[in-house]
Amino acid sequence: MHVYVHVPFCGRRCSYCDFAIAVRRSTPDAEFVAAIRSEWRQRRDHPAWEKSPRVETLYFGGGTPSRLAPSALADLIQLAASDREFATDAEVTIEVNPDDVTAAGAAAWSAAGVTRVSLGVQSHDAAVLQWMHRTHRAEQVAPAVDTLRAAGLGNISIDLIFAMPELLHRDWPRDLDLTLALEPSHLSLYGLTVESHTPLGRWTARGDNTLTADEQYATEFLHAGRRLAAAGFEHYEVSNFARPGRRSRHNSSYWSGANYLGLGPSAHSLLDGIRSWNVRDWADYHERVGAGQCLEAGSERVDGGGRRIERLYLALRTSAGIPVTELPAKAREDWLTAGWATISGPDLRLTPEGWLRLDALVAAVADS
Ligand code: SF4
Repeated sequence: MHVYVHVPFCGRRCSYCDFAIAVRRSTPDAEFVAAIRSEWRQRRDHPAWEKSPRVETLYFGGGTPSRLAPSALADLIQLAASDREFATDAEVTIEVNPDDVTAAGAAAWSAAGVTRVSLGVQSHDAAVLQWMHRTHRAEQVAPAVDTLRAAGLGNISIDLIFAMPELLHRDWPRDLDLTLALEPSHLSLYGLTVESHTPLGRWTARGDNTLTADEQYATEFLHAGRRLAAAGFEHYEVSNFARPGRRSRHNSSYWSGANYLGLGPSAHSLLDGIRSWNVRDWADYHERVGAGQCLEAGSERVDGGGRRIERLYLALRTSAGIPVTELPAKAREDWLTAGWATISGPDLRLTPEGWLRLDALVAAVADS
């Protein structure tokens, strides 16, 4: 089993953020732990545990999990570890903002069982961070990395956002180089998207922001692929790069179709072929937990044609790819000729140029 806990609290909303968050000056640690404990009790006897009895990975995402008190995080890790079989090499990840890293906090995370940190850096450029409404400053990143390492948390993934608006004059190669200088074991790179109900969406609607051109997106994505390959990273999923042996086991479970259990507001689960998702709003979630009500906002069975397309889409996101025989001959030939795919033994995998067109390629073969 792979377990995800959504910690929705943030100090402020970033300009581009579309996640289910609750802006709070201080985090309601006790209420949150009690709510997750209550949801865990509802879910601990789900029949899917029979097939997936052992917790292999535990991931605290958000929101900003690093704003939780370390003792609250320790309680939540203990909740899963004491109640279910917990793999001795379980991957326990926490998403962290650089400004939340202190020596005492990092030591407490490590002592609680955290084995991996996903650090939300996004950029090393002060003007870009300010435009993003991030709470941290560029000069806090390197000391945060040093502090994490000193606490024994050396397995560090760094998140960066690319395809920023031209008006910011962001130097993407410089940001990548500064990130590599920190020697992370993993990188996640996300292209900026504009969602209408975010501050960025509103700036864009009133003409204060222009959308990034597709050419810039492609140039920066392809540059990152080359730069990181030269630095020894494996591009193992569209947005993810790892040093050998350092792939995210938790995220890999999503792409492989394994069972996963999501706890907290907006968290998704996939258990024995049923996908479900919780209510999005923290206040609503909290109220329902208190009243012993159902926390799910919806669910669907993933089967038939939908399952085939989803499996194709997820497998093509990764460097594992799909068996060559799963693709119609015409599409296969077109993709290979265009340089969007390569064949290695029995498998076909997309190239970075192919990943740039992933949605269109999957849509084109969806009805075949
Ligand atoms: S820290 Fe993350 S979750 Fe919180 S507002 Fe910023 S992007 Fe959204």
